[in-house]
Amino acid sequence: MSRNQALFERACKTIPGGVNSPVRAFGSVGGTPRFIARAQGAHIWDADGQRYIDYIGSWGPMIVGHAHPDVLQAVQAAMADGFSFGAPTEGEVLIAEEIAKLVPSIEQVRLVSSGTEATMSALRLARGFTGRDRIVKFEGCYHGHADSLLVKAGSGLLTFGNPTSAGVPADVAHHTTVLAYNDVAQLEEAFASFGDEIAAVIVEPVAGNMNLVPGTPVFLQALRELTARHGAVLIFDEVMSGFRVALGGAQARYGITPDLTCLGKVIGGGMPAAAFGGRADIMQRISPLGPVYQAGTLSGNPLAVAAGLATLRLIQTDGFYERLGTATTRLVEGLAAAAREAGVPFASASVGGMFGIYFSDQAPACFADVQHSDTARFNAFFHAMLDAGVYFAPSAYEAGFVSSAHDDALIDETIAHARSAFAALA
Ligand code: PLP
Repeated sequence: MSRNQALFERACKTIPGGVNSPVRAFGSVGGTPRFIARAQGAHIWDADGQRYIDYIGSWGPMIVGHAHPDVLQAVQAAMADGFSFGAPTEGEVLIAEEIAKLVPSIEQVRLVSSGTEATMSALRLARGFTGRDRIVKFEGCYHGHADSLLVKAGSGLLTFGNPTSAGVPADVAHHTTVLAYNDVAQLEEAFASFGDEIAAVIVEPVAGNMNLVPGTPVFLQALRELTARHGAVLIFDEVMSGFRVALGGAQARYGITPDLTCLGKVIGGGMPAAAFGGRADIMQRISPLGPVYQAGTLSGNPLAVAAGLATLRLIQTDGFYERLGTATTRLVEGLAAAAREAGVPFASASVGGMFGIYFSDQAPACFADVQHSDTARFNAFFHAMLDAGVYFAPSAYEAGFVSSAHDDALIDETIAHARSAFAALA
């Protein structure tokens, strides 16, 4: 038995499903999850010593590659001074200033430890600020696992949302309205029907949790105009797209200014850090200044802040995003060409350092499109690539990530393996 299998069997005895976050379990693709022993640059090694080119990057944070020497050194230096104080530090000031500089819509920012905390806190703040309860989200967007966000669409626009998880009270889900992503007509209809009840609209401006589905400029612009007209708070959940699709995130790429922004992943450089921030008049409603409560024992943890600051410095080096975008385009175009040669229906897309691969004729525009892709083919492709030493996300509903450590040679090696995998699928 392989060491991966042995560890998985042991893990299943004491950890539900053997994993600490569901997608790690290979539930939709089948097979044994790889237990990762170490990582360096664009590679990870599993417990059996097998090396993989990694296109997950811890689901987004590792934009400068794994164990980058500058990040390692920053964390080691911070660690030598102690791990956590429960009191303010200079590092928190530095990272807040850095975030506000890079994302100008963020006038004030608060650090938390996970993306879930960021979105949950931003929603509470929006509700406290507007005095309204209803929130709007979009089908296929994931914003972490807070109760009011684990909700799917009811059967019609004016019906209430339904919980997508056991344990979420219907009373909570009732305050969430779920609309179709990129559907401007439906959005307008919702605002016409109950716009003045809406506290906040939360959206992934580039969605990465239903595979990759970029928001259309017209949809994002409509969101901005309608929320402003109706006094609702526009929250961009850039936990994934922040510092990933451009230095200033999706809002810089599309030229849209949200009221609040949620960040995570890259700002922790692989350590637990996230943030929410935005307009100062809204942010000042948070305790201790205002009546909206929000707190965290490990918020602004010195090690996480050190990793985040080092990462934020690295991504500001000249040409970083041009190189990242070029590498990601090279990957997705190479994969599409290899699929075409083999006659396999396939589409791909990328935005900055984020990409999507779809086993369907064209790239999807919403969740319903993603559901029509050929998951059996995706699963076979995933396993063929894994066997060849390439680690893609183990689900047809997840985006992929390229880092600055993925050079042309690694990308071409990936495409060569994909050529064989597609040939076997044809
Ligand atoms: N928002 C988005 C867009 C995400 O992609 C995620 C996680 O993948 C979250 C929020 C939740 O972040 P976390 O897993 O750190 O709680």
